[in-house]
Amino acid sequence: MKQGIHPVYNQATVKCNCGNEFVTGTTNESIHVEICSKCHPFYTGQQKSVQARGRIDKFNRKFRQNTEA
Ligand SMILES: [Zn+2]
Repeated sequence: MKQGIHPVYNQATVKCNCGNEFVTGTTNESIHVEICSKCHPFYTGQQKSVQARGRIDKFNRKFRQNTEA
């Protein structure tokens, strides 16, 4: 590899909102994520995606009211 043209490749600790931590290779020093393979709805069931859908509905209702006004 040529020196100076490649980003530094680190081992970084990824921290998730659920408390899970894991190490991955990245050019960043640390990463914070809201969702990971441990707490993704696919692995935990559909509870989070149902909540998210409720929020999207709320947003859509609000947005429609604002554009009609
Ligand atoms: Zn997580």
